[in-house]
Amino acid sequence: MATLIYNSVTVGSIEVVALSRHGGLSKGDYSSLNLANYVGDDPALVAKNIELAGSCVGTNKVSVMQGEHGSRVNFVSTSGYANTGDGLVSTTPGLALVALAADCVPFAIVDPANGVIAVGHAGWKGVAVNIMQNLVDQFVTGGGDLIHSTAVLGPSICAKCYEVPTSRATELRPISPVAVVGDRHIDVSAGVHSVLAKSGLNVIQIPGCTFEDEQLFSYRRANGKPTGRGGLIVALPSS
Ligand SMILES: [Zn+2]
Repeated sequence: MATLIYNSVTVGSIEVVALSRHGGLSKGDYSSLNLANYVGDDPALVAKNIELAGSCVGTNKVSVMQGEHGSRVNFVSTSGYANTGDGLVSTTPGLALVALAADCVPFAIVDPANGVIAVGHAGWKGVAVNIMQNLVDQFVTGGGDLIHSTAVLGPSICAKCYEVPTSRATELRPISPVAVVGDRHIDVSAGVHSVLAKSGLNVIQIPGCTFEDEQLFSYRRANGKPTGRGGLIVALPSS
């Protein structure tokens, strides 16, 4: 199991695990712990990988995000691929949530006392439409108490490695000034962090750049070739 886990943070009784790209069953460009069913990988191997990811947080029930770079959030209580959206919220004991990413920021919000968990996914588009605020709002609707909850940001592409056209930096600057570095670089993680921290959450950042670290999937490093998706997994303990 060690190779499956890149890093983890424990909040009360809840562990948030950043998954590595290693220790899974997928081959070639998807090697090896790919959790996405929309990138051309063998569905049978992806299903096995999701089981392996669940084992990292002690469950075989896993709900996997189907991101669309928007702000939609879904409440889930059963395993399998969730409806399309970039956020999941759950109060179901023993159910794990997965946020998929490969350069974008996967993040989790956990309230161990009230038994509420959430995961989100944000790239520059997600910052622009503020998926973070919608996930926070839906987390509260689900019973989460922000002052006693913790957000965990997984590894993502760092600002130095994320160069964009000047037009994109110009577009994002008025919406999230902290996410724009100079004229051509975006710090997605800073954009996510600032909204979560302003909501009153304690925020923990798991370090690491997906583009620089071979242990993590990176869409940009794949440079046009197919690649897998890793991300964050978190589960409420079984009751
Ligand atoms: Zn980097």
